[in-house]
Formats: sequence, structure tokens, C-alpha cells
Amino acid sequence: MKLTVLGKFGPFAPDGGATSGYLLQSDKSNVLLDLGSGVLARYKKYKKVEDLSFLILSHLHFDHTADVGVLSYALAFSGRKEKLNVYLPSFNCPLLETIKSIKEFNLIFIEEGKLYRENDLEFSFYKMTHPVLSFGVKIKSDRAVFAYTGDTTENENLKELVKNSNLSLCDGAFIESDYMQGKPHMSIKQACALSNYFEGRVLVTHLNEKYTSEQLQEEIREFKNAEIAVEGKSYEF
Ligand SMILES: [Zn+2]
Repeated sequence: MKLTVLGKFGPFAPDGGATSGYLLQSDKSNVLLDLGSGVLARYKKYKKVEDLSFLILSHLHFDHTADVGVLSYALAFSGRKEKLNVYLPSFNCPLLETIKSIKEFNLIFIEEGKLYRENDLEFSFYKMTHPVLSFGVKIKSDRAVFAYTGDTTENENLKELVKNSNLSLCDGAFIESDYMQGKPHMSIKQACALSNYFEGRVLVTHLNEKYTSEQLQEEIREFKNAEIAVEGKSYEF
């Protein structure tokens, strides 16, 4: 599989950046994981909207969903006949009502523990801990396993989520000196420490624009299987 980071920032992006959004590709699938601000334009560098297999929204915060409305316009203009499957949490809020009104989408409300299949992929969801209902997802092809935490604090499901993965994309929003209990995200070091539970790599994302690359590299220095996500970079595994 291959993961391309389209947007790595949260809760908002700097000039030229994008908030959360990732393209996961296997032999037969092109999957979008979250769709933050600026992500759709980046996606179009790689594939057409007609080629999109399905979309997963980990939760309904704006930095993960800002481009959902414009995706519906792009789908309508593309002439694509079939609706796009969109997996999302059933979380009562005005944004969900808006998404429900989009006729280009076929909404599938996430059930934890259920095994889903599309094309050459199998996937299941794990409830995370965040101010709104939020899910991590584990996606398997016949050759590799990928995990994405979405937004979360440390919780008991994380170990199972990342287990056996070749690559885990993990929320690490704070450097340690900015972190305290009660924050809605893990710290970078907490995200990196998940690498103790599996053999593959941790890719840290949901980064605040205020951090310099030197600050970010310093946080991951002690973890040999962790790296900081880079926008526009593809990770094969
Ligand atoms: Zn969030």
C-alpha cells in the first residue's frame, strides 16, 4: 500500500498548507482519509474524483471535513454516476445534517467492531477519545496493514488499533512542553511510544503550524521507528 500525506496540519493550516487529509492506495483502491481544508485540490494532483473508491471521516471537526462540501461539487461536475460511500460517525451536529443533505454521497455510519469490505480492502473501526465521537481505522490489503488514529488522546483501544500494522498514522499534536492532561490530542512522544506495540513505523501528524522542524525532530529523536509526516510525501509499506 501507499499513503500520501495531503494535509498534516491541525487545527488550521499555514499559507500553502492543508489540514488533515491522506490518500491511501492499494492495487485496486484510492481511499481518502479525512478531508480538511485544501485537501481536495491536493488529491487532484494524484487522482480524479471519479477514481475515488470511498471516503472515511474519522470525526466531524472542521479541520477534518472542511472540503466535504466542495467534494460534492467536484463529484457532480465529474459526471460520476455512482454515489460515493462515505464512512462517518453518527454524531448529532449541524454538520452531520448538512452532510446528510448531499445527494452525491451514500452515508455509512461507523459501527465499532464490524468488519467492512470494499474492493481489495478490509477495514474496521476503533473508538477513540476526543471531545466528539471519533474513530480510528485499521485497513488491511492482502499485503499490508495500515492504521490511522484520527484525533485522540491516549486510550485502551490504541494498542489493538496499531497492532500488526506496517504503518500507523498517529495524532501527535503537541510537543511535550505544551502538553498536559485534558488536552484533546496525544503529544508527539505519546504517539511515537505506540511504536512499542508493533514492528512497523509511526508517522506523526496533526501538527501545529507554530512548531519548527527542529522542534519536531527533537521530539522524535529517541524513537527509531517514528517520523514526522511531510505534506506531498508518499510512504510505501
Ligand atoms: Zn478533532
